[in-house]
Amino acid sequence: MVSTKPHAILLPSPGMGHLIPMLELGNRLLTHHSFHVTVFVVTTTTSGILKLTSKYDNLNIILVPSHDVSTELEPNRSVEDRIVSTMLHSLPFLRSQMLSMNPSPSLLIVDIFGVLAFPLARDLGMLTSVFFTTNAWLSALTIYLPFMDKEMQRRHTNNHEPLFIPGCQPVRFKDTLEVFLSPVEEDLLKAAKEIVAADGILINTWQDLEPAATKAVREHGILGRFTKGSVYPVGPIVRTVELKPDQDHVDRHAVLNWLDRQPGESVIYVSFGSGGTMSEGQMRELAFGLELSQQRFVWVVRAPKEGDACGSFFDVTNNGGEETVGYLPEGFLRRTEGVGVVVPAWAPQIEILGHPATGGFVTHCGWNSVLESVMNGVPMVAWPLYAEQKMNGFMLSAEVGVAVRVEEEGGVVCRERVAAAVRRVMVDEEGLAMRNKAKELKVSGENALSKFGSSYKSLCEIRKDCELRLLGCEGRSVS
Ligand code: UDP
Repeated sequence: MVSTKPHAILLPSPGMGHLIPMLELGNRLLTHHSFHVTVFVVTTTTSGILKLTSKYDNLNIILVPSHDVSTELEPNRSVEDRIVSTMLHSLPFLRSQMLSMNPSPSLLIVDIFGVLAFPLARDLGMLTSVFFTTNAWLSALTIYLPFMDKEMQRRHTNNHEPLFIPGCQPVRFKDTLEVFLSPVEEDLLKAAKEIVAADGILINTWQDLEPAATKAVREHGILGRFTKGSVYPVGPIVRTVELKPDQDHVDRHAVLNWLDRQPGESVIYVSFGSGGTMSEGQMRELAFGLELSQQRFVWVVRAPKEGDACGSFFDVTNNGGEETVGYLPEGFLRRTEGVGVVVPAWAPQIEILGHPATGGFVTHCGWNSVLESVMNGVPMVAWPLYAEQKMNGFMLSAEVGVAVRVEEEGGVVCRERVAAAVRRVMVDEEGLAMRNKAKELKVSGENALSKFGSSYKSLCEIRKDCELRLLGCEGRSVS
């Protein structure tokens, strides 16, 4: 007799921005949809990872032995290349573990860097799904990639014309992804084809946040025409603050105690995700901009890196440390004492965004940060750095109306622009409108997740697909 309780295997690729939403998804599948859940955590460094995974002690978490790919790849290879190479090395371990599992796994969920595990899943008779830990707009672009008119792509790359995606906002060249700066590589196209051929596609969004793009991926020209399986908006999947009853405040981060002493919605939180880094010159402008804005702030700082906007991606919690003072403008810490707090390398973001004193967020527009901000009703200053963040920045400022976007001039955002953007969010009337919009979206996001809300129903449908597969596969043999 085969158990009809499906066993989902989750395989996030390296990077906190991939791991965190995948753990949260696992948690939802287990607690609300009665899946068995195993998460394979592929690490490039264990700093911060063990602390994070220990919070999910209800999930079966298996650490994949780490493999240092830096010795095999040329130093100038992209972050994406390093992620893919690391994932490739994890496959033999994954296979041997999955073969001996009881109950045998029925569903593999990967993020966009994990599709190279699909052949293995198919070998084992499992359903395959991709979890886009990003928005519907970028998901639509990725799904559409194998079918995109090559001439339009060429004109985008060479003449800087927009990219048109059925049912979605066109992508302006100034917001485009690095992959379109030259002809799209074969490997990327191959990965996009695997995504399109998956049994299901999950996206960390919901209808009210992205009405057009969500409609597009679900029905308007994309579903059925391009993808093999259904597309499920399942968001907003974000962490929430949860103090366990026996947890006292002894290990509470000092920044939260400082926030306790500040007036409501008076502090702007400044952070560029798990990997974001800036040049020393840009950090100085940001520091002076915060001073000029005359607003209270919490700033997560990392050692500057010239010409590398994601310089901490593989070593997130371990960068910044004691030399903080050295790279901030002279006297900055003294002048801002009592007004602002500088946190080296890593801060408890969820607790900060959920704190009543926090009233704004200067963010690099990583999708998790965006959702976490919205789900705490906090408006943003959008300061995109890399990957799809410029698209996100455009969407948040021009479409959704929850952010002000900063613009560079000569490769730098000057202090006056920093100060003006911060004040627009924290002081001006338009900031109030953005806050109200964020609060409205927070309620609609909660509704999507609640029992019988749209995202809850999506996960029910996925569970149903798995049950059907299990019933139809009683005699399956595993080689
Ligand atoms: N994060 C955090 N503390 C920090 C920086 C980041 O807790 O100091 C978390 C943040 O809450 C989010 C994730 O790390 O969940 C970063 O993901 P995001 O998609 O925003 O950006 P990425 O790091 O992938 O660029």
